[in-house]
Amino acid sequence: DRVIELNQLTKHYGSVLAVNGLTFTVRPGQVTGFLGPNGAGKSTTLRMLLGLNTPTSGTAVIDGRPFREFGTGLRHVGALLDANDVHKGRTANAHLAALACSNGLPRRRVQEVLEMVGLGEAGRRRIGGFSLGMRQRLGIAAALLGDPPVLLFDEPVNGLDPEGIRWARELFRRLAGEGRTVFVSSHLMSEMANTADHLIVIGGGRLIADEPVGDFAARA
Ligand code: ADP
Ligand code: ADP
Repeated sequence: DRVIELNQLTKHYGSVLAVNGLTFTVRPGQVTGFLGPNGAGKSTTLRMLLGLNTPTSGTAVIDGRPFREFGTGLRHVGALLDANDVHKGRTANAHLAALACSNGLPRRRVQEVLEMVGLGEAGRRRIGGFSLGMRQRLGIAAALLGDPPVLLFDEPVNGLDPEGIRWARELFRRLAGEGRTVFVSSHLMSEMANTADHLIVIGGGRLIADEPVGDFAARA
């Protein structure tokens, strides 16, 4: 269980082939990096996993099921896709409380996850006044609300300062150490070298490598 499986996953946007026959498995208990340059197809792949984009062909399943079959999604899969895609007029508390409510999660989780991401004092502030780094932390908090076994993070350290990057790395490693499936995208090998155990590398929508991070680093 907790396994993410892609089988020949493919997505065309008109004539653009964004994702081209991706087949790979992401396992629990380790951090799996999803590495590729901008435009490689990482976000499109993660969006298909979350049921936010429909594949042209192929399948993406979590625990053997497509994401839309999970009733209260946040209990199974937590995701950070775009930290800026939030209602800026809301406070962090209101944003997380709405997510907790719509997912049937207890209100007390809001303060718990804010503290987990270092925003324990920022709950009453409006998201519009947050830096990108704070929005990334808030997005990570949202992903953690349901205490899910599977976590997807799309470029989560963009906008974080060096201290924040170290913090995020330790958090991802701790979540994986708890037996969760942690899948983290990045366009920077330097970032992944210190964060991931295993790497899935894509370019132009195609799989380039699927191996332990040390093996890839030794060849790169
Ligand atoms: P990455 O996350 O690795 O930067 P994306 O999945 O965002 O890559 O993009 C993969 C390719 O698909 C790029 O060529 C991008 O321009 C294209 N693309 C992404 N989203 C759309 C969209 N909504 N409509 C058309 N093309 C898109
Ligand atoms: P809406 O546009 O209705 O506010 P969202 O874009 O927030 O919906 O969510 C679309 C889908 O993604 C929903 O099924 C929701 O449960 C799921 N979702 C939203 N945020 C997260 C998250 N942080 N982690 C996992 N799933 C999420």
